[in-house]
Amino acid sequence: MSIKNYFDIQELVCPHVYDKFGLYAWQFFDPRLLDVLLVIREGIGKPIIVNNWSSGGNFSQRGLRCNCCMIVRDKTALEKLYVSAHLQGMAVDFNVQGMNTQEVHEWLKKNQILLPHPIRVEENTDGWVHIDVRSDGFRAITWFKG
Ligand SMILES: [Zn+2]
Repeated sequence: MSIKNYFDIQELVCPHVYDKFGLYAWQFFDPRLLDVLLVIREGIGKPIIVNNWSSGGNFSQRGLRCNCCMIVRDKTALEKLYVSAHLQGMAVDFNVQGMNTQEVHEWLKKNQILLPHPIRVEENTDGWVHIDVRSDGFRAITWFKG
């Protein structure tokens, strides 16, 4: 199966990017992130929710973020540097249906051998899981504090 069997592009980008690029927005993702997300989705065997704005939900900034996204605009307005992996198509925040953050973190630890590329996981998130492929490349999983 391909990542596109499990996710619509709207689930991975903000409305700003989708409105302008539609399906061409797949180009903005680091292929390693998509590989990792596919392996996690197939391995864990449950729906993964990144963004849900296109189905009326509140999440729109959990995948690719652009300069028009609120999180980014707010940092810019304060003249604060912001170089999140979310800006580079290298990160997603997500929930797995029926599992809490702790359970997903445990699953990742137990199944890290499956990961096709090294990832970073934010260890102190509350209510979601953050993964990205901005890794040092030496370990399957690098845990970091956001
Ligand atoms: Zn945006």
